[in-house]
Amino acid sequence: MSHDPHPHSHDHDHDHSHDHDHHHHHHDHDHDHGSDLSQAAIRVRALETILTEKGYVDQAALDLIVETYETKIGPRNGAQVVARAWVDADYRARLLQNGTAAIAELSFSGRQGEHIKVVENQDGLHHVVVCTLCSCYPWPVLGLPPVWYKSAPYRSRVVIEPRAVLADFGLVLPEDTKIRVWDSTAELRYLVLPQRPAGTEGWSEDRLAQLVTRDSMIGTGLALTPAQLAEEQTP
Ligand code: FE
Repeated sequence: MSHDPHPHSHDHDHDHSHDHDHHHHHHDHDHDHGSDLSQAAIRVRALETILTEKGYVDQAALDLIVETYETKIGPRNGAQVVARAWVDADYRARLLQNGTAAIAELSFSGRQGEHIKVVENQDGLHHVVVCTLCSCYPWPVLGLPPVWYKSAPYRSRVVIEPRAVLADFGLVLPEDTKIRVWDSTAELRYLVLPQRPAGTEGWSEDRLAQLVTRDSMIGTGLALTPAQLAEEQTP
């Protein structure tokens, strides 16, 4: 499988040297000459600032929308896939055989999810997903990637010392549990099928889906226990 390197374009052609107009310092622009933002990032930020100042875009509303897609709306699709796999052994088999097709059975498909491989956690084996080069992520089932997924520390460290990184997420696995790290690419993205928690016998799919967190489908967490879910739902 070839890996699209997603080349990043860095723009290092700033020229801070020509402080040419000493007679006009009363203009007092708020230039941030220490910034290493690329020219493109500066333009985007400037445009956002203008749109926000003009009242076209409410930054707080924008942040809320992104946050919602990261944590609420996006991962609910994946949660339905996982819950179906927990109650339907034939579906689970199809899901592990051809993730993309089985996920499409529930009408989840589209950009950034053309090829999804589902990896199943078992006793003694835990999967965790990363994109070491950038931030490839299965959008149709998880929505937008969280900020930490795109961070350099996560991307570089989880490959080298996954157990320590998972501990940072509050996930301490038994010493004898093997951890397998899957490196996503633009061509192939991964979804973790977490283990069904104990004490959920006879639960409906909808109720089971409530146990399935985003992090449990990336592998940086487990599905909630019934007790944890009850705690979350207590105001
Ligand atoms: Fe990527």
